[in-house]
Amino acid sequence: MSSSAAYAAYESGTVSIARSAWPAPAASPRWPALTADIEAEVAVIGAGVVGASLALHLAERGLRVALVEARQPADGASGRNAGQVQPYFGKFGEMKAWPDGGQRFVDYYLRHRNIIFELCARHGIDADAAPCGLVAAAYREYASMTQNAAHWRALGYQVETIGAGRLRELLGTERYAFGVHWQDGGRVNPHMFTNGMVAVAARHGAQVFGDSPVEACERVGRRWKLRSAQGSVTAQKVVVCTNGHFGNAFFPELARTSYPLLACGVATTPLPPALLEIINPARVAMSQFPLGLYPMVLDGRNRLVTATIPGVGGADDGKRYFSYLLRHLHRTWPATRDVPIELDAYWTGMTANSAPAYQAGGPRLYHVADGVMALMNFGAGGNVVGPMMGMNLAHALADDRPQDIVLPLEAPVALQSPGRFEFKIRRVLIPIARVIDRFERIRL
Ligand SMILES: Cc1cc2nc3c(=O)[nH]c(=O)nc-3n(C[C@H](O)[C@H](O)[C@H](O)COP(=O)(O)OP(=O)(O)OC[C@H]3O[C@@H](n4cnc5c(N)ncnc54)[C@H](O)[C@@H]3O)c2cc1C
Repeated sequence: MSSSAAYAAYESGTVSIARSAWPAPAASPRWPALTADIEAEVAVIGAGVVGASLALHLAERGLRVALVEARQPADGASGRNAGQVQPYFGKFGEMKAWPDGGQRFVDYYLRHRNIIFELCARHGIDADAAPCGLVAAAYREYASMTQNAAHWRALGYQVETIGAGRLRELLGTERYAFGVHWQDGGRVNPHMFTNGMVAVAARHGAQVFGDSPVEACERVGRRWKLRSAQGSVTAQKVVVCTNGHFGNAFFPELARTSYPLLACGVATTPLPPALLEIINPARVAMSQFPLGLYPMVLDGRNRLVTATIPGVGGADDGKRYFSYLLRHLHRTWPATRDVPIELDAYWTGMTANSAPAYQAGGPRLYHVADGVMALMNFGAGGNVVGPMMGMNLAHALADDRPQDIVLPLEAPVALQSPGRFEFKIRRVLIPIARVIDRFERIRL
């Protein structure tokens, strides 16, 4: 691969999934290509966390499902993310405009916020899923953090604001003065989780195909026929779960419904035992407020995994983002200055956001045509809500009760300038955040 092709792969978030920290050490089975003309009740396009959950829950209910993936399951954002299991969602103001004001979505969310841990336990999915809780840490008290904690506590969550002493106990650092501790949430290996769901779907009878990009989707009588290079699936219903739909020629209107944003992941080699006693001894998933440059999990192999937004022109520069992480570690846990920490993995992936503000906007369910829906645009937080909405849609389809779907069914509307979000984040906000982060004395 030429260096410009290699750079393009990082910049488009399609660099080989082998670069990500998450594929299991023992290779997952490769799903065969679609090479025949088959039939199904529901065809699911895209085997990320959303399509995998949809296929699993449909197959579990006895429907004939075909899951068709362009590469292999979890080769998209779902195998490239930061492994944070966030049990709450951020600004989602648009819900107020929904017919029910979002009430059914919120109720469903509250009931199923532990879906990752529940699915892993119920199906024996080995995905290093740990309900270890989450801590958001800050240098001072923020009213918005307190209000957010109070909001979710009122909804029944075990979440508390904590001070420096408790933060020291949990995180092993003196650096933070204020935080929010969520008992729900934790971490997961998202590649293994997605592949685990796909394997369960197949065990329940789903037909799974890899290396089969869908190229066309045409109406045939009252059904739909989706075609890959060597085969086809004819189905009563099609659900498109392709995340941002980038690069797809079929249903091109879907491709302009989201704001793409490139993100990158960094993982260290396993930390030595001495550092494990110092860095985050409670092994919670953690993030920082307000900059949030280093969300972090300590995985089952004792590696620190974080994610950030790469600078313009620097998408392939893993050493740069690793050096930022090291600087953060040295400042937060000074003892790490004396112990070598190595870079294990660096990769990129693409998020598809439904709003042009970070962590705002939510997933979208589009009515593409009669019999065709698209469940996509899960942004930077799809690990929990992705499988949850997959399950919700599967049950509604199996019961033939569209009224049970908790997301509104919308028409895809082309955004005027989908590139403006990435411009704002990568060219303006992240560079400013990095300047602030560089100076020890600036503590927001
Ligand atoms: C670096 C990074 C860090 C993140 N960190 C977190 C985190 O810590 N916590 C969290 O909750 N979320 C996180 N996210 C977001 C999360 O990963 C996504 O919201 C979620 O994975 C989206 O799932 P999906 O199934 O919609 O999309 P994807 O996982 O992208 O799946 C879409 C699938 O569709 C396939 N596809 C596309 N076109 C076709 C076609 N024509 N035919 C067949 N298949 C096709 C793709 O190959 C892909 O496998 C992060 C994302 C990134 C990139």
